[in-house]
Amino acid sequence: MPAFSPPTPNPPENPMHRFYTEDQAALRETARRFAEREVLPRAAAIDREDRFDRGLYKGMADLGLFGVALREEAGGAGMGATGACIVMEEIARCSGAVGNAFAIPVEAALFLDHHGNERHKAMIPGILAGDIIPATAVTEPDHGSDVAGLRTTAKRDADGWVLNGTKAWVTFGNVVDALMVFARSGAESGPGGGHKAISCFLLDGKAPGIHRGKNEELLGMHGLEDCMITLDGVRAPADAVVGPENGAFKMAMGNFNFSRLMMSAMALGMAQAAFEDAVAYAKTRKQFGTAIINHQAIQFMIADMSTDIAAARMLIHHAARLYDAGMPIAKEAAQAKLFTTDMAVKHVSNALQIHGGNGYSREYRVERLFRDVRLAQIYEGTNQIQRMIIARQVEKETA
Ligand SMILES: Cc1cc2nc3c(=O)[nH]c(=O)nc-3n(C[C@H](O)[C@H](O)[C@H](O)COP(=O)(O)OP(=O)(O)OC[C@H]3O[C@@H](n4cnc5c(N)ncnc54)[C@H](O)[C@@H]3O)c2cc1C
Repeated sequence: MPAFSPPTPNPPENPMHRFYTEDQAALRETARRFAEREVLPRAAAIDREDRFDRGLYKGMADLGLFGVALREEAGGAGMGATGACIVMEEIARCSGAVGNAFAIPVEAALFLDHHGNERHKAMIPGILAGDIIPATAVTEPDHGSDVAGLRTTAKRDADGWVLNGTKAWVTFGNVVDALMVFARSGAESGPGGGHKAISCFLLDGKAPGIHRGKNEELLGMHGLEDCMITLDGVRAPADAVVGPENGAFKMAMGNFNFSRLMMSAMALGMAQAAFEDAVAYAKTRKQFGTAIINHQAIQFMIADMSTDIAAARMLIHHAARLYDAGMPIAKEAAQAKLFTTDMAVKHVSNALQIHGGNGYSREYRVERLFRDVRLAQIYEGTNQIQRMIIARQVEKETA
């Protein structure tokens, strides 16, 4: 086997393709060609060197991929969450980390288009072009899942706002140009009031008082310049608030619906890659005088992978279609994220098992997939939080 498996010449058919419109099929083809020609050959080096690949980022921008979900009037392609998931699966199939990088400008452009004022929206063309790198800072060292408890403060004065606090795990934190910071801007008003006192501020990522930590040393998803950011008396103009003052918690929750679909499609792409590698390996690796794919234990792992990947794809596209039709998808997005990321972690591990000792070696792509995919169960709301959301929605539906 070569060190990094080439894309399968005739990958197992994805039955969703039969239902794609012409535009969706062309989008998939564009994303797949870019991913196989540009991303795949650089994926191992990005992982090994843990370095942001600005050229690939710009390459995705030049293809117009960052505006895939944005409405046409705002400069996007108007292909919705469905389009974004189609692209994400293809990019993440060749590199989870590059897929992760793709998600950030797509989500930032949508967020600013939905909630921003004219000055904020003026940044969208730069984000789509890959010239302005956005990042979002919600999480803090002591407040992760408990977003409503965050402690970064924004105090109003005669000239605007002054922000103080510490943000953790900011993806793109060390390269960010446009930083969206969630901070406590109002007084808390009794139990549950915490979430009604949070605003989002769009800051210049290089503003005085913004201090970045060194890049986090992560298990996987390398090259994303993830770091802690300290805000030390950072000044922002009065119109830096994105959306309604004290209304950012609701905006963040709405944004999660879209971003969870993106993370689901990212995990799906990685599971698909692991599946293709496992099948190819099982057909060539011989033990006890026959290719290991002829052993029933291997066949059953492959059958379960194939089934769960197909089920995940259906869940994601179902939720994406609802989103594109303007329907509420809190439950469906959480279900897609929970199911897809759990199944991806399980089956990437099974794919590694099918590779035997070779799967444990950096020589084979499945080792990187195994490290990269694990993050998907943790961020954009851990899978414990997804279960809480689903249960709450079920309770509401049956009240
Ligand atoms: C590589 C990476 C990139 C990231 N990028 C960003 C970014 O760009 N911007 C950003 O703002 N954040 C980012 N994050 C942060 C991420 O969103 C958080 O790590 C995540 O929300 C979980 O928060 P936590 O790590 O504080 O875990 P905690 O909230 O402390 O959770 C610890 C454990 O407790 C469980 N738990 C917590 N509360 C409950 C509950 N009520 N019931 C049951 N179980 C519970 C969790 O599921 C988890 O298993 C990133 C994180 C990582 C690792």
